[in-house]
Order: sequence, then C-alpha cells, then structure tokens
Amino acid sequence: MGMTTSTSSFRSAYLAALADRVLVYDGAMGTNIQRYHLTPEDFGGKALEGCNDNLVLTRPDVIQEIHESFLAVGCDVVETCTFQSTPRRLAEWGLLDKAHDLNVKAAQIARAACDKFATSERPRFVAGSMGPTGMLPSSTDPVLSNVTFEELAQNYCAQAMALVEGGVDVLLVETSQDILEVKAAVVGIERAFAELGRRVALQVQVTLDVSGRMLLGTDIASAMTTLESLHVDVIGLNCSTGPEHMREPIRFLSEHATLPLSVIPNAGLPLNTGTGDAIYPLEPAPMADALGEFVRDFGVRIVGGCCGTTPEHLAAIVARIGELRSVESTAAGEPREPRLPMVSSAMRATSLRQTPPPLIVGERVNAQGSRRVKRFLLAEDYESIVEVGREQVDSGAHVLDVCVAVTERSDEAEQMSQVVKLLSMGVEAPLMIDSTEADVVAAALEHVPGRAIVNSINMENGRKRIESIVPLVKKHGAAVVALTIDEIGMAKTRERKLEVARKIYDIAVGEYGLAPEDLLYDALTFTLATGDAEWIDSAAETIEGIRLIKRELPGVGTILGVSNVSFGLTTEARSVLNSVFLHHCVQAGLDAAIVNPAHIRPYAEISTEERAVADDLVFNRRPDALQKFIEYFSATPDAGGSTAVAPPPPPPPPPKRIRRPA
Ligand SMILES: [Zn+2]
Repeated sequence: MGMTTSTSSFRSAYLAALADRVLVYDGAMGTNIQRYHLTPEDFGGKALEGCNDNLVLTRPDVIQEIHESFLAVGCDVVETCTFQSTPRRLAEWGLLDKAHDLNVKAAQIARAACDKFATSERPRFVAGSMGPTGMLPSSTDPVLSNVTFEELAQNYCAQAMALVEGGVDVLLVETSQDILEVKAAVVGIERAFAELGRRVALQVQVTLDVSGRMLLGTDIASAMTTLESLHVDVIGLNCSTGPEHMREPIRFLSEHATLPLSVIPNAGLPLNTGTGDAIYPLEPAPMADALGEFVRDFGVRIVGGCCGTTPEHLAAIVARIGELRSVESTAAGEPREPRLPMVSSAMRATSLRQTPPPLIVGERVNAQGSRRVKRFLLAEDYESIVEVGREQVDSGAHVLDVCVAVTERSDEAEQMSQVVKLLSMGVEAPLMIDSTEADVVAAALEHVPGRAIVNSINMENGRKRIESIVPLVKKHGAAVVALTIDEIGMAKTRERKLEVARKIYDIAVGEYGLAPEDLLYDALTFTLATGDAEWIDSAAETIEGIRLIKRELPGVGTILGVSNVSFGLTTEARSVLNSVFLHHCVQAGLDAAIVNPAHIRPYAEISTEERAVADDLVFNRRPDALQKFIEYFSATPDAGGSTAVAPPPPPPPPPKRIRRPA
C-alpha cells in the first residue's frame, strides 16, 4: 500500500528545539576552506583539487576544525561538507564508489564536532547538506534536462540513507534551483526514510535571484505551494543574494506559509573581482541586524550564513539572536491562519478558492474535446498545443486541463510528458492532468514543476481506481478531482452524490491521509437537451448535490464540467444555459468550473428574458421549459447581443459511462 507513515508520530529533537527557540546555523564551508590554502595533495591529488567534499576523507581535521569554529561562537547547527555528494555529482569527480562512505564520514565528523559542544540544556545539531545535482530537469535544455525524475530521486535517496546512517538530525535540501528537482529529492528522501524505517526532519531551501525568482522563473508563492504540498518540515531560502533581497520573499512566506521558516543568506551580493574569487561585501554587524529583523518581524525560526560568512559573522548573529531571546517572544509560534488550498506551475501559484469564484479550468487542451488538439497530437506538433494553452489563459483560464488520449496512438504517457513539460515552461497556469491511466498520471506528475491537480478518481470499479491514483497524488503532493460515480453508476440525485462523495472521502482522507482540501468533487452534469424525464431534474440535483457536499464534508472543494448541461443545443443557447447554470452552481458553493473560458458569458450580461427561460429549464419549473428555451433562441438568433464570430466548437463527447438503471 502506498500509505505513508504519519508524521504526527514522528519525534525530532531538532524540531522540538526549533519550536522552543530560534536556531542559528553555521557559516560558509567553501569560503572557509579557501582560508586554509590547501594543496592538491590535501584534496587527494591534482584531479580532485577543489573537490571540498573529498576533504572529509583526506583532511577530516580541517573539516572538523571549521565545524568547531562555528560551534565555538555559539552556532546551534552545522552543515555537513556534502553539498556535492549526490552520487551523480561525485561521479563527475570519479568518486562514485565513495558516495556512501563520504556521506557517512561527513556526518560523523560533524557529529563529533557537535558532541564536543553539546550540553543537556543546549544540544547541537547536524544538518546533512544536499545540494543540486547540476541538472535542470524542468528546463527545455536538451543537455541539462537529460535526466529522469526517478534518477534524481535515486540520487537523493542514496545520499539521504548515508547521511542518516552517519547520524544527521535533519536533511537539508539546499540552494535549490529547479523546483522539479526538489520534488524528486523529497520523493527520494521519503523512500530513504521508508527503507530505513525511521525518519529525521526535512528542511528545503530554495535560492532566489535578485528579482525574487528561482533560476527557471519560479516565484516564491509557487515554490511555497509546491514545498508545503510535499509535507516537508521547514522551508526557507539560502545563498545567491544577501539578506536585503530576501526581505520581500520572507515577508511573503511569513504571511502565507504554515511551516517554520529558515533564512541563510550570503554575506551580501558577491562582487566579481576579476580574479576568479568572488568577494562577499556584507560585514558581520549589518548581516546580524538584517537577520535579527527577520526573526523579530517575520517570525523566522532559523538563521545562519551561506557563502562568504565567517565565524565573525556568526558570532555577531548569535549575539543578535541572543538579545532577541532575552526580550519577549517574537511573532514566531503564533499559529498562522490556515492557508487556502493552492496549486502551482513552474512560475506562479493559483488559489483553488478564487474571489470571486469560480476557478476557471480551461477545457480545450483536450484531445477528446478538440479536433484541433487531436490533430496536433497525431502530428506531434506540441508547440501548437502550447499555443492552445496560451489562448485559454488569455481568455481567462486559471488552470489548464490536459488530456492527450487519442485512440490512434499508444504512447499516451510519452505524449503527456512532452506536453506537460512544454506547457510548464511556456504557460504560467498550473495544470490538471486528465487521464484514465495510472501510468500516464505518474509520467505527467514526474514532469510537473509544481503542484498539479489529477483528473480523476471515482468508485466505478470499487476502490480500484483510488488505489492506483491516490498514492501518486500523495507522493507528488497533488490535488485530485473525485467524480461521484460508484459501482451502481453515476450519481443522479443529491443524496446519491453525497453518498458517493462520502465513500471516497472516507478512503482518500481517512485511509490515505489526504487533506479534505486536496479533494475537488465533481457532482456530474448531464445534458438537459434531451427532454428525457429521467434527466429533467438533473441540473437542480447537481446544484443541490454541490450544496450538500460542501456542507457535509467541510474543507473539500467542488468542480464541474459545466458545458455538458447544454450538449446538443445551439451555440448561442449553450452559452446562455452554461452561464446561468454555472451561476447557480457557484451560488450553491461550486469552487471550480471546467469550461471553455471563451464561451462563458458573465451572468450580469445575460438579459432578464434569457435568465427566465434558462432558469425554467435548469430548475424544471414548467413542462414546456425545454421547448420554450429552444424557441427563444431560434426566434432571436442575436439574443444577448453576442458578438462572437468564432465558429462553434465541436461538441464535447456525451458524458461517458451514463448508465440507465435497469
Ligand atoms: Zn551560498
């Protein structure tokens, strides 16, 4: 089973200390090693000159001395000298076979240094440093992205296992450049915890440039959304800039993140001296002042120094934090407001609870509903699909539904991967992965540099689909659409919709540990265009089903593929019926709508007459409601003053899996 161990039963002295007081990390490893002016022999030979991580084997005394120099000035935490010690990076130095020993040894050296300074009142902690592999999996660069998610996960898994074996208190994924690599790192680390049968704290720090974005454009809201969905313990920033450029991102995190925050800046923005060695200009006192402000004003719980910081910097920081400790308690520790559920793309985050509602999910990047997209997929013309995505966003879509299933091809997973990758780099909207196949969902999630939504689960075959999809949702921190379908069929009445929703909730939340907010219930829409007595109340039942689900299952979201309601009607009639129906659904609590945003008219622009004939149909108020509705639009082809000149879209397929009860 894919259920992960509950973190609530997990005890960490490190996290307990963090809850109790602000912790100060050490300063730079690299720039302090430079102070020793080591020879090629110290590094283990000419070919290894500059490979700091190998010093734990060749000059452990130097590494331990640097750790101790920081502990001596009062630091609480030291980072192992393992920034480059993923197997992949070590292989570049020809040290692949030493990967395990080197990580274990580095942790032991740091542990030994800490043991010299720790007291029962004041434990000292070892953070296992895990830097980037140097690859950029979410980029479109053919060389830098030539690595699989699984390969990255395995690298971090291997490093994590050795660091934990060596005795670290916390694993520190740091200086992260590509949020997709971070996702892979967390998946790998979770695997290590599962294999070891125990876990340590997990802290993830990203690196932002002076504009507040990660290397590939990820903003702080997006990084935060992705990291919090992965259930790490601490999130923060390190490296790249000095503290001043971190102020606004830290302010943002202090207002929106639910996890403890860490800030480990460089000693200012590096100045290029032209000699190859960068100079870090920020003096100890102003650095300590800035970090003190972050602790006092933004509730930051971990501070420390990255590149260019010396024991003198850390002494000043320790003193400054000590003064704050002796004053009264800071903003820290105050519970933050529960955060609204968000999703994220490589660029930005989007709330699943829009104000005003609903969240618009663009439906056109869909091979099942668009002949154009299907044609592009058959021709492998992915750039044109990205263009369709852009059009949807320009028309108002907040999120893009992506479905690439075409019966003529058998490589849905491969096509999905390609499309997701290009959409992620080319369109700012987060993605909804729409597939019935678990392997396609898995492939897609391994290419999403953010928090996606998976479309969808249901109980048509009992628990089967939940068991294949929800572990993927959990592993990748995604949200998921849940259709109210079970073994009996598609739920038609409000009571049945709630009954099926509750069954899914009990498994997804109760057994798999998803948060209620991770679920988006689709209470199903059926066309009103047939006039069939069996479906004549279906719109009203859907509206009431949404209301019931929102009331009885607090925290969950709701979503609806709105345009099915008008399937079979003329374009103008569809636009009005879709918009009026959407309005009533939103009034009942609908959070998200899957629509073509270009074909939704604002409710306020729909005339009283149009609303009246549409309402009669939606609420089944008179036996001739459908007839009147059709007549209205055939008599007044320009009703509503629509100026749309675009040709009507091809009709979507009729709702799948409709079953007539026997
Ligand atoms: Zn740095």
